[in-house]
Amino acid sequence: MDIFKPLQISQEPLSSGKNGNEENVRCLIIGSGPAGYTAAIYAARANLKPVLYTGLQMGGQLTTTTEVDNFPGYTEGVKGPEMMEDLKRQAERFGADIRFGIAASVDFSRPRHRVTIDDGSIIIADTVIISTGATARYLGMKAETKYAGMGVSACATCDGFFYRGKYVAVVGGGDTAAEEAIYLAGLARKVYMIVRKNRLRASKAMQERVMKTSNIEILWEHETLDLFGEKGVEGAELVYRKGTPGEKRISLKIDGFFLAIGHTPNSSIFKEYLHTDPSGYIKTIPGTTKTNIPGVFAAGDVQDPVYRQAVTAAASGCMAAIDAERYLQEFNSDIKIDTEKDGTGFITKDQKAMSN
Ligand code: FAD
Ligand code: NAP
Repeated sequence: MDIFKPLQISQEPLSSGKNGNEENVRCLIIGSGPAGYTAAIYAARANLKPVLYTGLQMGGQLTTTTEVDNFPGYTEGVKGPEMMEDLKRQAERFGADIRFGIAASVDFSRPRHRVTIDDGSIIIADTVIISTGATARYLGMKAETKYAGMGVSACATCDGFFYRGKYVAVVGGGDTAAEEAIYLAGLARKVYMIVRKNRLRASKAMQERVMKTSNIEILWEHETLDLFGEKGVEGAELVYRKGTPGEKRISLKIDGFFLAIGHTPNSSIFKEYLHTDPSGYIKTIPGTTKTNIPGVFAAGDVQDPVYRQAVTAAASGCMAAIDAERYLQEFNSDIKIDTEKDGTGFITKDQKAMSN
């Protein structure tokens, strides 16, 4: 049986253009964080004429922070919104078409990918780069919004530096919380881990590292009720053994409050077609940005449960644009891509291997 068939996509370059509310594009980028804008810079320079939809949060997560001190090239640091404006302007300089709009649904069942935008327009794209990011989970207290950037953070690697010699708390008992607490312990005077149960969910190895770190103290069976402070966080109101006869309230003096209770990758609209891990992160073929669907690539936090940094997101945006360009070159040339039909479309050999 001939299981590998040539990819059933026109060998002609797709001309972009509109037909009613449908528009053909060579490269569609979804999301305007560091991954999306970097993909747009590279795709525009490669003449892929990328169209980028920004989503609700134009500029992505970094627009919610003040100082970004660790992105290479900004010797004095940079304000998050400013940096993202720089990236946007750079992409526009090369001709990227940046539009405000949200990808509402996708259809990756056909060789040409259909993406419906929230204004009703339909983009038919040869290649799609998904860079929709991940959203840190918060406890839902009003104080988290009030003190955002003023003592509340969901990223120790990003903001830990500002708490050298200070007192901080990390909420959560998983691997992320353990990692963040250990990282902060190298900078802060004291780190409290606020853990709602009487055990950690983190792996044994991480638990051991936490226990061995002398300036980490675990507050078992504690939950956070509120934060207080004049100009920024000065402390947290906690409750011990909430709802039990032993319930007790305590006030903890801290300068920084770090959330580490998980992230939600913004991948829900793609899940019908793309392979994801149990937490919802889009799976890519290691060392590439290729997903299980040919022509669909994922970059940045939406496919990265580990690093989640602006520079790693930007780097994978670059990779996605290069992967998209090479993909287009392949099916616009005589080179046949070996593919096999599966339930969701045509898959290549390496994509098949990925799903096994
Ligand atoms: P994001 O920046 O998350 O952007 C996702 C984009 O996708 C957004 O534009 C959104 O509107 C769009 N989108 C989502 N869904 C849709 C849809 N359906 N249709 C269209 N668009 C959609 N990292 C550092 O390296 N240094 C720091 O100092 C730093 N500080 C941080 C401070 C804070 C408060 C936070 C929250 C994060 C910080 N980070 C920092 C992490 C960094 O922001 C992320 O790693 C990075 O932004 C991820 O980039 P991304 O492009 O993958 O996605
Ligand atoms: P996680 O494993 O889901 O842990 C989340 C933690 O936050 C749990 O301790 C949970 O408490 C707590 N939590 C959730 N909601 C809370 C709330 N409302 N109030 C208080 N606490 C709350 O998430 P993660 O730590 O981000 O890890 C995600 C995945 O990435 C895991 O598979 C993890 O192993 C992996 N990871 C691995 C590494 C590594 O290997 N170095 C590093 C980071 C992450 P309960 O336990 O009580 O539910």
